[in-house]
Amino acid sequence: MNKKGLLFIISGPAGSGKGTIVSRVRELAPFEFSVSATTRNPRPGEIDGVHYHFLTKEQFEEKIHAGEMLEHAKYSSNYYGTPKAPVEKILNEGKNIILEIEVQGALQVKEKMPEAVMIFIMPPNYETLLSRIRGRGTETEEVIQERMKQSHFEIDHFGNYDYVVVNETNGIEKAAEDILSIMRVENLRTLRNGDLAEKFYK
Ligand code: 5GP
Repeated sequence: MNKKGLLFIISGPAGSGKGTIVSRVRELAPFEFSVSATTRNPRPGEIDGVHYHFLTKEQFEEKIHAGEMLEHAKYSSNYYGTPKAPVEKILNEGKNIILEIEVQGALQVKEKMPEAVMIFIMPPNYETLLSRIRGRGTETEEVIQERMKQSHFEIDHFGNYDYVVVNETNGIEKAAEDILSIMRVENLRTLRNGDLAEKFYK
């Protein structure tokens, strides 16, 4: 029987750089990635089914009621959620997967799957976070303020995570390396290697 894959949850406030860090991690090591569903509008360049599954509020609520979401949350007045079936399939195939999701959803996953490894990406300080959110240039002032409020909520919850990685200025490479180190260590846990004794005596 295949050993199950590992589930990594990566969270961090908007502007923490988590998207860029996760892309770098995936360049350095093979990881499956869960494509989330959302009711927010696509940003320029975002492709349906690649960056997100873009759904209407009604379609999203149908999926919640049908039990098709592993987790879901409201963030800046929109729904975001992880479709359950693809995640389970990937884990059952023995492959590792990354979920890049916000805090409320992360806590729901941890409750259902306590073996999930939770990593929080922390910006170095308040000013850096604000200028990163502004620098993106795709959001209105109202959205920026909403995201800053949300950031405080997320940072207040970082103690619920197993690991924290600080994304310093120009720190993408170091942060990606830190995450890879966590992944390597997690793979060495005895509880994930229960089959070794059996293999040894074969
Ligand atoms: P954005 O609108 O900037 O793409 O994402 C907003 C927030 O939603 C980010 O913190 C992102 O990690 C989070 N997010 C993306 N997909 C999901 C998901 O499937 N579930 C949850 N709970 N959060 C998500």
